[in-house]
Amino acid sequence: MFGRRRLQGRTDEQLLLMREAGLLVGRTLALLSDHIRPGITTLELDRLAEDFIRSHGGVPNFQLVPGYHHTLCTSVNEEVVQGIPGGRVLEAGDVVSIDCGAEVKGWNGDAAFTAVVGGPEAARPEDLDLIAATEESLYAGIAAMQVGGRLYAVGDAVEGAIGDAAARDGHTYGVVDEYVGHGIGQQMHMDPQIPNYAVRETGPKLVDGFTGAIEPMVTLGTTQTRVLDDDWTVVTTDGSRAAHWEHSVAVRADGLWILTAIDGGQAALEARGAAYAPIS
Ligand code: MG
Ligand code: MG
Repeated sequence: MFGRRRLQGRTDEQLLLMREAGLLVGRTLALLSDHIRPGITTLELDRLAEDFIRSHGGVPNFQLVPGYHHTLCTSVNEEVVQGIPGGRVLEAGDVVSIDCGAEVKGWNGDAAFTAVVGGPEAARPEDLDLIAATEESLYAGIAAMQVGGRLYAVGDAVEGAIGDAAARDGHTYGVVDEYVGHGIGQQMHMDPQIPNYAVRETGPKLVDGFTGAIEPMVTLGTTQTRVLDDDWTVVTTDGSRAAHWEHSVAVRADGLWILTAIDGGQAALEARGAAYAPIS
């Protein structure tokens, strides 16, 4: 088959270093979650994140992407991903996706979450549904990974979860298929690409120690996006709001370890009947 290279696994020593990077990303996102409120600007969130990462021995790895100068991507409402932090003042009811990465000792983590500014009381009900459905699809995609299984089972599981959520919630959800997840390790973005949507092919076979970033992007309408004139910000073509959730994950012989989750993914994995397999 075309492009079906054998995947590489990482050693336990390497995974422990990736856990350091992942944990720093997870803790940065938790800090930001506590600071998202009406009146704060996206650039203020970016500075909080950069200070936290650097003061804990990390490097904001988004700044290592050519042409990008920030620590976060902050995507608001109809912005899907790659929104650039700036003077925008967040308002109650805005849907904001925060994507963050860090490099520690040469190894990388990458994760994202979506929240409503001002909390659930300030939210449109459909936005809370969208955010919950997208988060659920992330964990469904992660739980579909196992040694000996196929990488593109991730996208099938994401689409399955979104289909179930659409039927339950009575919304039309669009699973964005123009951006993909990716391998991660000594660089943030590495081969292979990991579709967060169903594809015809089955993809390469997962191996012990494989590390990848799974990151479904879902909208309250279209699957189609376009890029703004800033050459970064990705928005929905119909103006519908979007959510983006991401974790960096290690696939191990006896289960999964979510490197960017503060609890290693234990709660989310066990709730879905997937084995939690950290290096202890
Ligand atoms: Mg990311
Ligand atoms: Mg990513």
